[in-house]
Amino acid sequence: MNLNKKFQKLVVPVLLAAGFAFLNERAIAQESEGYPKKPNFIIIFADDLGYGDLGVYGHPTIHTPNLDRMAVEGQKWTNFYVGASVCTPSRAALLTGRLPVRSGMASNKSRVLFPNSANGLPLEEITLAEQLKTVGYGTACIGKWHLGHKEEYLPTNHGFDYYYGIPYSNDMDLTRKLEGPTGYWDLWTKEYKDLDITDFNVPLIRNTTIVERPADQHTITRRYTDESIEWIKQHKENPFFIYLAYNLPHVPLFASEEFTGTSKRGLYGDVVEEIDHNVGRIIATLKEEGLADNTIVVFTSDNGPWLKTEISGGSAGVLRDGKGTTWEGGMREPCIFWAPGSIPHKVVMDMGTTMDLFSTFSNLAGATMPTDREMDGVDLAPVLFDNGKSPRNAVYYYRGRDLYAVRFGAYKAHFITQEVYVSNPKRVEHDPPLLYNLDVDPSERFDVSEKFPEVIAEIKELVRKHNAKMVKGPDLLALKEKAK
Ligand code: MG
Repeated sequence: MNLNKKFQKLVVPVLLAAGFAFLNERAIAQESEGYPKKPNFIIIFADDLGYGDLGVYGHPTIHTPNLDRMAVEGQKWTNFYVGASVCTPSRAALLTGRLPVRSGMASNKSRVLFPNSANGLPLEEITLAEQLKTVGYGTACIGKWHLGHKEEYLPTNHGFDYYYGIPYSNDMDLTRKLEGPTGYWDLWTKEYKDLDITDFNVPLIRNTTIVERPADQHTITRRYTDESIEWIKQHKENPFFIYLAYNLPHVPLFASEEFTGTSKRGLYGDVVEEIDHNVGRIIATLKEEGLADNTIVVFTSDNGPWLKTEISGGSAGVLRDGKGTTWEGGMREPCIFWAPGSIPHKVVMDMGTTMDLFSTFSNLAGATMPTDREMDGVDLAPVLFDNGKSPRNAVYYYRGRDLYAVRFGAYKAHFITQEVYVSNPKRVEHDPPLLYNLDVDPSERFDVSEKFPEVIAEIKELVRKHNAKMVKGPDLLALKEKAK
């Protein structure tokens, strides 16, 4: 046996053993260090982006290399939900950690706030920003708010130190005269190439002051990102929370000159690719500023694609239907968690919701959870950092103030379904409820209610318990107050 072979036979095993011991110690050390302490949080919320609109979620012609990379470095969640299938209640759920029906931000009449709404998220609600401020976080809201545009309801009165953005949807304050009953839809299906920013007289607000009107929507994605980057650089010495809510790809679609005409998917793709590029700029900033190891970035969307807008709307991929419905396409969203210092890569098929971010971030930040109200979130930290299971085993799908469907484990029961964005939408009550196994049938195609009456009984019992704890807040959105 030559020396080289002797070395391999005797020394290599010793070195390997030592190496494993070292690795093992490191693993134990990391585990005992626990979860990150007081990390920075950035929630990036797209508007009306569907489950199937990112490369990493299977879109064949929208190129999203930055988000794809985040999903590979971090966690791609495939069963992540929002609190409602339209803007206002979905945002209320994210920021309060509660079903929007509890805060009064859910209605059966007017489903979202409009420029003539005089109300907003009640000041008694505790937002995630207020929660994090109690433990010393700096807080900024940049982008779409849609929880009340009157001064008393703006982000600066809801726990945010700074606000810059359009206070509601980018299609509101429409100045163009609509032709006939299909006029609004024609804007997105027939006329969308001819639309100009002056057709939408939406304001851009800094803190509480309008600084531009109409907002130049061609540059709004880049400018929201510029503001976020600047704010990060100025506040990096202390823990911070940024809620960056892009107004796009909600219609009207506007891209900058740099991105217009560049995507194979057309204007919708241009807009999503511009968002992807700008998310990449945020990540690059975190790396350059030495913040990547202690910042958790979450990317998701407020509701599913607005299918009625046809080519101007997104895709829910394999999921059924879209925005406005309680089918999966309305409420299940792409969701990526990224924190290279603490979140190991995996694809997570457990359930999570935007309401869970309140609980998860509160616990990481060391903020005490409110005890004077019903909360609807769970702490996702065991899944994010520890290979654990999500404590969430159920999802409640509300449309307005009514519970339409419930997911329990793999099964989802629809008690009510309703058409959307048509005149005289059909509302159907199902008894027995429609039942789908979402694990084997994510597209909700095959009703198995006849085969599994015991599952339906179990879900009905869950609903009974849920209703017993449900005190619904006032129907604030339905108040037909006019702004003065
Ligand atoms: Mg939306």
